[in-house]
Amino acid sequence: MTTLTVDADVVARCRELAGVFATRAARHDLEASFPVDDFQDLKDAGLLALVVPRDHGGLGADFLTYTMALEQIAAGHASTGLTFNMHNIAAGSLAEVDTTGIEGRRGRAMNAFREWAFDQMVTHRRVFASANSEPGIGAHFSAIRSSYRRVDGGFVLNGSKLFVSMAGFADWYVVVARREDSDGAIPELSFFVVGLDDPGVRIEKVWDPLGMRATTSDNMYFTDVFVPSDRLFLASEGLGAYKVVHQPHWVIGGYIGAYLGIATATFDYMVGHLRNKRIPGSDSSVVTREWVQHSVGELAVRMEEVRGLVYRAAEAVQLDRGSRETNRLIHASKHAVSEFAPYLASQAIRLCGDRVSPDHSRSSATTGTPGWGA
Ligand SMILES: Cc1cc2nc3c(=O)[nH]c(=O)nc-3n(C[C@H](O)[C@H](O)[C@H](O)COP(=O)(O)OP(=O)(O)OC[C@H]3O[C@@H](n4cnc5c(N)ncnc54)[C@H](O)[C@@H]3O)c2cc1C
Repeated sequence: MTTLTVDADVVARCRELAGVFATRAARHDLEASFPVDDFQDLKDAGLLALVVPRDHGGLGADFLTYTMALEQIAAGHASTGLTFNMHNIAAGSLAEVDTTGIEGRRGRAMNAFREWAFDQMVTHRRVFASANSEPGIGAHFSAIRSSYRRVDGGFVLNGSKLFVSMAGFADWYVVVARREDSDGAIPELSFFVVGLDDPGVRIEKVWDPLGMRATTSDNMYFTDVFVPSDRLFLASEGLGAYKVVHQPHWVIGGYIGAYLGIATATFDYMVGHLRNKRIPGSDSSVVTREWVQHSVGELAVRMEEVRGLVYRAAEAVQLDRGSRETNRLIHASKHAVSEFAPYLASQAIRLCGDRVSPDHSRSSATTGTPGWGA
């Protein structure tokens, strides 16, 4: 367990909300409908500002608290956890940027952008989505094809994105694109905040997958979209490399809490089911069988190993953010938890067998596909 102090109140609040989210999860999953009601609850609880610094009106959660809070939310509803993380990738990456010492026009523009974005989250309760992935490319930054060029007063953006979670529901979309004349192996990638109503923005509703259905991760197209200068993310071109090298805990590792929550809910669900399941034709519970105990025991140990690695990585972000060792832990923990969650789900299906009643579930996690997102 961690040696750092975690904001236990925030984590407890998220756990409480997750209990409510769990009661709605199956419906949203079945309908593939975005959980607007969950997001309304998150807004009402001030949680859109979870990682926004306190001096900007937010709750100022550190990365470990964030990871534990997200774990709770995702245990209640996997899709709400995953999409809530997309919002926090924008908020968190901005929160930790230190602009002191950056003088002149550049420093002022960076501060103005942060003020604007935090105000959108805190006062106006606006939700931010993240549009990186592209057809045939996935989220491989070096191959991004969407492009932008400078024009008077801003930029013009063109490109196609897929898997945009919250498409049509988020207020703002942080879109990554390469500078039009930047063709090298390491292209100059910049991020733009695009609104749903900006001319040239189109959403194509295609999302009908087997799992994580309530993320509504649809396609988006940008055709000659004008983005004013003040919506260039952090007023800085070429942030792509910075984010990958210095902020992998957001770009890559923000999800670790969500996947851990999904795994935890799956594990709890499995244990609850097995306790109630009788051996057909007898009064004995299946948990009296040694092989069931052995299998569950092995999964429990792996669950704790993965939990330990996730917390250790999150703790490292606080203690030594952006260092080689911390980044290594972030990548390792994401790999571990996103491999373990689907493995656990498949083992749980084998162990539990037939259709289960929802009585002992606090989550819909088993109706999702844990660990496959982003
Ligand atoms: C529920 C869900 C929500 C998502 N939400 C978002 C979102 O909000 N925003 C967003 O931008 N994206 C989102 N994504 C997209 C996600 O980030 C990935 O881009 C997408 O899932 C495709 O990546 P991938 O790694 O699965 O597939 P790919 O990158 O196509 O990889 C698939 C397989 O191809 C092979 N492969 C790929 N590249 C190489 C290589 N260089 N060398 C060897 N083998 C290779 C590997 O075997 C790999 O396992 C979401 C995805 C899901 C499922």
